[in-house]
Amino acid sequence: MSQKVRVRFAPSPTGPLHIGGVRTALYNYLFAKKHGGDFLLRIEDTDQNRYVEGAEAYIIEALNWLNIPYDEGPGKEKDCGPYRQSERKSSYKKYADALVASGNAYYAFDTSEELEAHRKDHEAKGKTFIYNWHNRLKLKNSLVFSAAETQQKIDNGEDYVIRFKSPENETLYLRDIIRGKMQVETSILDDKVLFKSDGMPTYHLANIVDDHLMEISHVIRGEEWLPSLALHVLLYRAFDWDAPQFAHLPLILKPTGNGKLSKRDGDKMGFPVFPLQWKTTDGDIFSGYREDGYLPEAVVNMLAFLGWNPGTEQEIFSLEELVNTFDLERVHKAGAKFDPEKTKWFQHQYLQKVTDEPLATAFKELLQKKNIAAETKNLVKITSLLKERATFVGDLWEQGSFFFEAPSNFDAKAVDKAFKPETPRLLQKVISILTTAEDFSAENLSEHIKAWITSENIGFGKVMMPLRLALVGEMKGPDVFEIISLLGKDESIARIQKAITFIG
Ligand code: GLU
Repeated sequence: MSQKVRVRFAPSPTGPLHIGGVRTALYNYLFAKKHGGDFLLRIEDTDQNRYVEGAEAYIIEALNWLNIPYDEGPGKEKDCGPYRQSERKSSYKKYADALVASGNAYYAFDTSEELEAHRKDHEAKGKTFIYNWHNRLKLKNSLVFSAAETQQKIDNGEDYVIRFKSPENETLYLRDIIRGKMQVETSILDDKVLFKSDGMPTYHLANIVDDHLMEISHVIRGEEWLPSLALHVLLYRAFDWDAPQFAHLPLILKPTGNGKLSKRDGDKMGFPVFPLQWKTTDGDIFSGYREDGYLPEAVVNMLAFLGWNPGTEQEIFSLEELVNTFDLERVHKAGAKFDPEKTKWFQHQYLQKVTDEPLATAFKELLQKKNIAAETKNLVKITSLLKERATFVGDLWEQGSFFFEAPSNFDAKAVDKAFKPETPRLLQKVISILTTAEDFSAENLSEHIKAWITSENIGFGKVMMPLRLALVGEMKGPDVFEIISLLGKDESIARIQKAITFIG
């Protein structure tokens, strides 16, 4: 690649960023970093009607949380700024005018009522109205009016738009890095509006002008923009600019594979579709990966695999490994099914990578919210025992609340299985071993209790099951001797005593 790699993520701030958008940003980031290039953020806010307060800040916060920050963009101004299209507003008109001057675009004065009437009229005849070579010479535009008439209308303040004049009869040969070669007949294209009567460019014009001015080398974006590719390539040609290379990413599908994953699916199906929680002005809350306890590394790894794979068995990739391995040529064409269970699997893997100390600190914060004060030393040990059963920090509590609160009741099914007539006598013996034990380490307790069980030929289950039930309240948790050691002598004995009383 001779030209410097420069890619951009160009969201419209119309709401929170959906994970599809996050994946687009991620692939742009990975591609840029792999090729030592720049990753830009451009805010495409030319449609003021759809502007949503807070959306831009949300996008930036999400990229930062995921550790995929942009090199250039709002707040990181470099030579190509400003990076919000609303702030570049005044620069687009001259490009639209230049296309009119070169015969590639024209002024159109048709009112929306007139266009609507044409549409209805066509529909009644079972046809679709397309504003293009078929009928543009029968409509109200500068291809029909003389130059003087056109100027008169503009001077009179009549509303007009500027439309692109699509070629009438040409086969366009397009190339997409992911999809390969494609052909489009220009005769099916409509003459898209480039510049609106409100003085704002449309997405198409602003996007091409900015990609050119910002020296974008590769446009990596969602598949929904594929139908615009022909127009965009024609616009580059009309301006006599080199076009960037294009890569259109596959759709992200619902877990059922049935259609596109929508913004509403997540909370309906019980998983977030947004990186961060989003609160609407109406007070609705959409859940986010961050607030749901996911690690950003897990979300990044999961998203990287939604539409791409390295072609090997390896699934766990750090961001750095992704940068090194990622390749647009290996992105699939077919839609990628979103898999909430796989997402949890990634989270579980990444939680295991967090070392015990910081995990214990996170656990401590959770305990503090429950007004439970815990000693850090024990907490590190408890965390290390519970970790492999946990996917989220919150699971440490689910799995290990008994370390901090004595069970208030015993699981009924487990009671049937574990508490037998001879159980009180056996537990009493355990109490006496604990009472005399000087070394309260798990190893020492294990050695003594096991020696007694073996010497009396009791059978491990007869002691270990009721013991666990007495301490935990159900048949779960890590090694029983670790539990006793951590609970300490008094608390362990008290819990066992309570079980004896319960059985009695
Ligand atoms: N503003 C467009 C969007 O919201 C950008 C499309 C593109 O990347 O060209 O998706």
